[in-house]
Amino acid sequence: MSNDNVTRDDSLTGEPGLISAALDTAKRAVSSLVNSVDADAVYEQGHDIADTKAPQVPIDKRWDERKFTAKLVNPANRRKLSVIIVGTGLAGASAAATLGEAGYHVKSFCYQDSPRRAHSIAAQGGINAAKNYRNDGDSVYRLFYDTVKGGDFRARESNVYRLAQTSVQIIDQCVAQGVPFAREYGGLLDNRSFGGVQVSRTFYARGQTGQQLLIGAYQALERQVAAKTVEMHTRHEMLELVVVDGKARGVVVRDMVTGEIETHFADAVVLATGGYGNVFFLSTNAMGCNVTATWRAHRKGAYFANPCYTQIHPTCIPVSGEYQSKLTLMSESLRNDGRIWVPKSGEDKRAAPEIPEDDRDYYLERIYPAFGNLVPRDIASRAAKNVCDEGRGVGPGGLGVYLDFTDAIERLGRPAVEAKYGNLFDMYAQITGENPYETPMRIYPAVHYTMGGLWIDYDLESSIPGLYVTGEANFSDHGANRLGASALMQGLADGYFVLPNTINDYLAAGPFAKVDETHPAAVEAVEAVRTRIDKLLSVNGTRTVDSFHKELGHIMWDYCGMERSEEGLRKAIGRIRELKSEFWSDVKVLGSNESLNQALERAGRVADFFELGELMCIDALVRRESCGGHFRAESQTEDGEALRHDDEFAYVSAWEYGGEDGKPILHKEPLVYEYVEMKQRSYK
Ligand SMILES: Cc1cc2nc3c(=O)[nH]c(=O)nc-3n(C[C@H](O)[C@H](O)[C@H](O)COP(=O)(O)OP(=O)(O)OC[C@H]3O[C@@H](n4cnc5c(N)ncnc54)[C@H](O)[C@@H]3O)c2cc1C
Repeated sequence: MSNDNVTRDDSLTGEPGLISAALDTAKRAVSSLVNSVDADAVYEQGHDIADTKAPQVPIDKRWDERKFTAKLVNPANRRKLSVIIVGTGLAGASAAATLGEAGYHVKSFCYQDSPRRAHSIAAQGGINAAKNYRNDGDSVYRLFYDTVKGGDFRARESNVYRLAQTSVQIIDQCVAQGVPFAREYGGLLDNRSFGGVQVSRTFYARGQTGQQLLIGAYQALERQVAAKTVEMHTRHEMLELVVVDGKARGVVVRDMVTGEIETHFADAVVLATGGYGNVFFLSTNAMGCNVTATWRAHRKGAYFANPCYTQIHPTCIPVSGEYQSKLTLMSESLRNDGRIWVPKSGEDKRAAPEIPEDDRDYYLERIYPAFGNLVPRDIASRAAKNVCDEGRGVGPGGLGVYLDFTDAIERLGRPAVEAKYGNLFDMYAQITGENPYETPMRIYPAVHYTMGGLWIDYDLESSIPGLYVTGEANFSDHGANRLGASALMQGLADGYFVLPNTINDYLAAGPFAKVDETHPAAVEAVEAVRTRIDKLLSVNGTRTVDSFHKELGHIMWDYCGMERSEEGLRKAIGRIRELKSEFWSDVKVLGSNESLNQALERAGRVADFFELGELMCIDALVRRESCGGHFRAESQTEDGEALRHDDEFAYVSAWEYGGEDGKPILHKEPLVYEYVEMKQRSYK
């Protein structure tokens, strides 16, 4: 984890291959030091920007006012208007189903073989809503307040308030669809708690909430497919955006089975393409998650906001070896009943059950008595890193802490624990070979969610007119740190309720002039896709795509992971640039375009990850403060907590693409807090 760890290969075993690999790595490290970039020379300053769509009325009236002032499209005109929606996760499927039902002609795309395989299916723990069913003091205002505070005062107040308002409708919608939320004995919907809050507002379906919600959205989507309002294109990957006269008008996609390059046009385009955590190579995201759709839109003019804000989740199964390609989340819900601890002494090598209470340090309960094990994810992750850095970590390499259910099993009985968390315990046992009912789980932080994404206004419209962005793909409502169970809430709020009430304001001016594949903008976009594919296939070098991805991931984790520093980020930018140029001269992509070719798919995604990774490091370098998931070593309180500098950094950074050889341009959207007072976060 050290930022000075410039060489990764410490295995000089005498084997020629390994020695030359180590020498190569060392050479790269030396030249990186030379190429380490100057902090202010890597970007240009642009003009400030603002969201102009949120009405200037009291915050609790804004959404109603916007819905009322947005232009409507009458039902007979809707069928003349078309919308492309890329992505069929919760954000995309809910939007496609709702717009289809409203009568628009929707074209839906995903790269999986079924919409139901979108990454949303992996979500485990739950979805928040301010229903106050527990009568524990919850309200729309409290959910709004918790989210703004949890995001470390780097989210837009108007959007977050609307999210809290809409949360209540989502649960009603999903219950009406038949989503089997957990219920109490009497039949009422059950709730549990997630990090950063002191109420129970999380609705759940065991440890499979995402799957059940996605089945609900999928049913609604398939109904529209049958009704022919939605045209479904599975196994199609969007590789370019078509922009005509400054407006988003279409996409270029590759049929992943035949390799055919197709263009599709519409009056508006929606990207619901998920997050980019896989830039780190190892993450809890599905293997296919990538940045290509949003990155291609960025290159066409859409601003990319807060790219450096990454969420590192505290409860994941620790990395077990160099050959691992995926990390597994153990849901945050486990922190409701599990207690996190390490031995008080780093010398204590006894097995967990043999360590007596007095020799254990329940460090979250000790440091943060008010929230205990349910502090927000950024705080819990850093605390785990700190105890491991002190040499008190457990398991191989000392990179782990215990998550212990002994007390919960004694208090509730094993059947009750099994009923709540059984599938998560089974998953842990299958992966580690250990029985978590008898031995505490070992967990460690891992990359999980990206708060950054394409910049959008209150209407969810990007800086390209007609291009809307929903779900994890936008920079959204979570500021510098997302609270647990709020991604599902945001994705479904965007898809079922927000987009369907804002996109009409844009579409009311349509249908726009007809565009087809002969339009110069479409020809140019198709040509760009073909050229890139040809280039990737023709390098014919010596290294696999995955080896590049892995090396990029190591750089990102070491320098732009849980802790970032000026020196480390400057080094990282230099190293990413070198690795990117090596990629384009030495990558080996086998096979051809004209068939199923996963190496080719991955190569395109990794090429985009290089460009994104560089921008993430630049964003992190420019933001010389700590906030939420972005922890700058130089900016911490005496207690080691994140120290913000609101006088300088209370803004959203919205990056404009500066061209292949140019520098990215930073536009700042100042953040104004009228309803929540900005203060140093405290969970003590
Ligand atoms: C293990 C895990 C557990 C989680 N648990 C929770 C939880 O309990 N509660 C919670 O609130 N959040 C949770 N999250 C976060 C949450 O699941 C995600 O943020 C959310 O599901 C993202 O939904 P989405 O619709 O925005 O994107 P996704 O579900 O990622 O969908 C993206 C879609 O875009 C398509 N796509 C992407 N790129 C292209 C392209 N170029 N061309 C064509 N199609 C494309 C994909 O095919 C897919 O259909 C969890 C995340 C993980 C990793």
